[in-house]
Amino acid sequence: MEKNSFKTNKIFAAEEEKILNWTEIQNAFAKNFGEEIYNSWLKNISLEKEFHDHLILGVPTRFFRDWIVSRYLDKILSELKKFKISINRIEFKITESAKSVENLSSKYNNKLNITEIKDSVLNYNRLNRSLNFETFVKGKSNDVALSYSKKVCEYPARYNPLYIYGGVGLGKTHLLNAMGLEMQNNNNVMFISAERFMYHFIKSIKKNDMVNFKDFFRKSSVFIIDDIQFIRGKESLQEEFFHTFNSLIDKGSQIIISADRAPTKLDRVQERIKSRLSGGLVVDIDIPDLELKINIIKQKILEIKNQFKEEILISEEIINFLAGYGKMNIRELIGILNRIIAFGRVHKKELNITECKNLLKDVLNQTKVITVDKIQNTVSNFYNIQLSEMLSQRRSRPLARPRQIAMYLAKKMTTRSLPEIGRRFANRDHTTVIHAVKTITRLRDKDEEMAKNIAQIKSLLLEE
Ligand code: ADP
Ligand code: MG
Repeated sequence: MEKNSFKTNKIFAAEEEKILNWTEIQNAFAKNFGEEIYNSWLKNISLEKEFHDHLILGVPTRFFRDWIVSRYLDKILSELKKFKISINRIEFKITESAKSVENLSSKYNNKLNITEIKDSVLNYNRLNRSLNFETFVKGKSNDVALSYSKKVCEYPARYNPLYIYGGVGLGKTHLLNAMGLEMQNNNNVMFISAERFMYHFIKSIKKNDMVNFKDFFRKSSVFIIDDIQFIRGKESLQEEFFHTFNSLIDKGSQIIISADRAPTKLDRVQERIKSRLSGGLVVDIDIPDLELKINIIKQKILEIKNQFKEEILISEEIINFLAGYGKMNIRELIGILNRIIAFGRVHKKELNITECKNLLKDVLNQTKVITVDKIQNTVSNFYNIQLSEMLSQRRSRPLARPRQIAMYLAKKMTTRSLPEIGRRFANRDHTTVIHAVKTITRLRDKDEEMAKNIAQIKSLLLEE
């Protein structure tokens, strides 16, 4: 187990969101792109990692990547969406060169901290084509931000910087992305999250390559940085950002920034940066009202209809109900809408309001805080065994299975890391937890009884 831990980890990570069957997707590629394109190009793509909203795909060489990105990326993305609607981005990893670097480093026994995102496409696939101005629905809460975003595209460097702020899931990234798309034909657009900026910054320091880093970011004529609040408390990053900011402004580049709060509210950020950030135009996006939510739902339904050429039946009653329900932000709202559409697809019928409410309860309940303790208690009760026995070192199956189920649920239903979960199970190693998650995932898929028990325990946990 220990020896294979890298491999195990990889499988495990893929299982976090195990929805896609790559063989099935490859077959769809072959069918929809034609044998020739498939055999020359697409056959060589591998699925490296699966996340909720993006995938990391492996391609043999840079040339392959560029060829595929320039010709087939849009279509690949829309094919993938048919299998998993939440995917909106693809990153590529060059598998061959990564391998040769790996060999090199092991040869020289030199731990060159190479991460898998190293070769992902840095610039051009960062902009998501579907997040444009046409798909952004106007409402009272975002009207000002939207109209200035458009103005900035029309008159770059007039409002500088443009600073957009608002709570999570309200459309900041969507707007930034739309501006990037709009301006990329006439400008050198750089679109990056503050977190990613930090990643490149640190990498350059490690590689002793700050010159390249500075050049790279300072040559853009439109510099868009998302979620700037990330720099809070990070002194050296702030320093670098400040210099990047100044030199971009000096050469007349447009800077666009988003954050989850107003510039003045950025605690643990240098005063001089705050004052720079407020020096242009500051606009906010507010919480959406009912009307905007309804319009967004309707537009999403329309988009999906057009994209997949399928009929989607969702009644006005349900649309109104969803829009009026609780304090969901737009991201949550779209998430739930996707679930409802998926449900409709599977059951081949329109949901009624009761089913819709149940589904919603299920989704919203997941935000309830579930602790490892609670999981352990519920599982041991369910199987009628003592908690102390379940946590003990005994390996008999009537104890080992519940123990593994509890670990599996701890991984799925809490935010605890693998080592943390291990510690809570009488100080077990994280590899034991990985093994448990793998075992239970496998059993759940092939054993109906197991699937049923897990579902029951889950609903016990979500009750109350
Ligand atoms: P933020 O960056 O503010 O957290 P996002 O831009 O990621 O939020 O928006 C969350 C989701 O909601 C995205 O799928 C986005 O496309 C969608 N969204 C937000 N506002 C709108 C809008 N006005 N019209 C259409 N979609 C929107
Ligand atoms: Mg965002």
